[in-house]
Amino acid sequence: MIPFNKPYQTGNETSYISQVMASGKLAGNGNFTKKCQSFFEQRYRFGKCLLTTSCTDALEMAAILIDVQPGDEIIMPSYTFVSTANAFVLRGARIVFADSMQGNPNMDADRIEELITPATKAIVPVHYAGFACDMDKIMQVAEKYGIFVIEDAAQAIDNYYVAKDGNRKPLGSIGHLAAFSFHETKNIISGEGGMLVVNDKLLEKRAEIIWEKGTNRSAFFRGEVDKYGWVDMGSSFLPSEIIAAFLWAQVENMDDIQSRRMKIWTAYYEGLCDFAAANNIGLPATPEYSTNNAHTFYLLCESLEQRTRIINHLKTKDISSVFHYISLHSSPYYLDKHDGRALPQADRYTNTLVRLPLFYELTDENIKYIISEICHSL
Ligand SMILES: *Cc1c(COP(=O)(O)O)cnc(C)c1O
Repeated sequence: MIPFNKPYQTGNETSYISQVMASGKLAGNGNFTKKCQSFFEQRYRFGKCLLTTSCTDALEMAAILIDVQPGDEIIMPSYTFVSTANAFVLRGARIVFADSMQGNPNMDADRIEELITPATKAIVPVHYAGFACDMDKIMQVAEKYGIFVIEDAAQAIDNYYVAKDGNRKPLGSIGHLAAFSFHETKNIISGEGGMLVVNDKLLEKRAEIIWEKGTNRSAFFRGEVDKYGWVDMGSSFLPSEIIAAFLWAQVENMDDIQSRRMKIWTAYYEGLCDFAAANNIGLPATPEYSTNNAHTFYLLCESLEQRTRIINHLKTKDISSVFHYISLHSSPYYLDKHDGRALPQADRYTNTLVRLPLFYELTDENIKYIISEICHSL
């Protein structure tokens, strides 16, 4: 069976984890955590980076950090993972779902302003499949109304927004805050894992306190205060050094991982162009304001029936392909809380998007076989 995903180990994970075990310091915020955080801060000119145990945790930290109160409204796409919404629901927020675009599942930046009310606290753009949302437009709307932007960059590591003047900005460096995931299904992994990026300097100090269970422990260890204690609300968001050690092995090999994933993505794109055109199937289109980090390769089928035929055919040929989100506005938990607006594009992606296997160890032979079986599936 060719799986949909196979977590890739670069080779140094075990040796770095052994170093942590030998050091006798297993808890968080040690050397490997600091190495990972500095790497991301320097390479992508991110604000303060804090490793977390998941992207879900990073989003929950973001919600605490911008002080979401019951009744606040948060605008986000409906076609996303539950954590994007849950993080804010936990603080009593009401979610205002935006529809996706015709061309890709990202929220339509031109239709955000109409969703803003006096209760709007933040916009949470999700860079689906790693492709950038139209960040200049989103930041302009946010600035006009004085609201926060939190990038759900779970899938968007090492990808860029390309501004009108050609200037490239790393995704995760644009919003006031950004959340990344290192879950085993993402490009760079640590099993479970994530990171909060704090680009707004005013939020930096409090972020570190929330991260450290509401204490000023980090400032204490830097010698900035002479004792530490409970100074704010917080929780246990920081990962063990064992996780950071695993992540460091991945980070060191990021360029190699990205280049292999890009080769696979391109092979799919080129190998499936004719089939897609002949069967009214869409392929991922890179927006002019985005680069590609080869997080996901998907097909957009013309109907649910067509998608089911493709998935079933591939299953009989030992290839695992999977659909993705059930749009949150029609999920059992939120259906009766949603304001009732139709979100036809989100529904379309729910019913027609299917993702193909994409992982480092997928061989050229595997890819040829998958392409050939897709071409025989209809
Ligand atoms: C994977 C993912 C998450 C959750 O990441 P975890 O690290 O598993 O918590 C959140 N949002 C999006 C868009 C994701 O793809």
